[in-house]
Amino acid sequence: MTATLIDGKAFAAKVREQVAGHVTRLKEEHGITPGLAVVLVGEDPASQVYVRSKGKQTVESGMNSYEHKMDADTSEADLLAVIDQLNNDPAVHGILVQLPLPGHLNEDLIINSIAPEKDVDGFHISNVGLLGTGQKSMVPCTPLGCLMMLRDYHGSISGMNAVVIGRSNIVGKPMAQLLLNDSATVTIAHSRTKDLPGVVKQADIVVAAVGRPEMVPGDWIKEGATVIDVGINRIERDGKNKLVGDVDFESASKVAGAITPVPGGVGPMTIACLLANTVTACCRANGLAEPEGLTA
Ligand code: NAD
Repeated sequence: MTATLIDGKAFAAKVREQVAGHVTRLKEEHGITPGLAVVLVGEDPASQVYVRSKGKQTVESGMNSYEHKMDADTSEADLLAVIDQLNNDPAVHGILVQLPLPGHLNEDLIINSIAPEKDVDGFHISNVGLLGTGQKSMVPCTPLGCLMMLRDYHGSISGMNAVVIGRSNIVGKPMAQLLLNDSATVTIAHSRTKDLPGVVKQADIVVAAVGRPEMVPGDWIKEGATVIDVGINRIERDGKNKLVGDVDFESASKVAGAITPVPGGVGPMTIACLLANTVTACCRANGLAEPEGLTA
């Protein structure tokens, strides 16, 4: 391997430490404890794991964690009533509704019922619009984590060619917007892109967010490029279960200048950024200065 490893696990630990420091200051100097409410509808096993992990890390950073578990057949009206109650609860600074929701619930309607200033996932249409116009917003956690790692590694990414593979609302599109806001020249590639290898080869920065195991081989990568691998794919290899990214780490790490591993890259940064967003939301709600380095 020749590429520098961008260690998301270590970086996330640093972000959590910063968050905990801000929480201590908020408590000691202002008597405020930030609070994050997570709403889980149904019993999707992966979602249960995520929610447990979010709650645990919220408490570890000194914040209050509120969990609302609701049955899989919860009605839209009942879910909206819980969100309304959280919107109006001054002890709750961040609200996250764990996705995906059961099929009978309208995800867009639910997400857009969260008060935008408490929308720590950054999925509310107002936050999407604010980000798109370069205004202060709540920024989706996974792309925010990717941006933090890129800024840390490069200092400035201004003028660099960035290719984002994937155009989802939760990763690809906000990632492209963040890169653009930092003055990169941005291309969004997707399933209909022609000559994807040729497009990726132009990139100084590649962010892969597709959900296809190891689909980006090393020979698509420009020598010295920075590769951020968002993909989390569970595969079976040599009779064992394994997590791999969207990038073929072995071949890509021989060409790239820097690369995030899977696991231990983008993944740990996502929850760390959720905690960061909650502190940011709490500071904004109380008219206090925002924590530096934890926002876009
Ligand atoms: P998604 O399914 O919503 O979007 C995938 C995107 O990939 C689509 O826009 C599609 O156009 C594009 N695509 C599909 N096939 C393609 C192809 N052959 N060539 C080029 N583009 C193609 O997925 P998502 O929610 O954006 O997630 C993407 C990946 O990131 C998944 O593996 C997911 O598990 C992972 N993820 C990780 C984190 C994290 O915390 N690390 C967070 C969110 C998502």
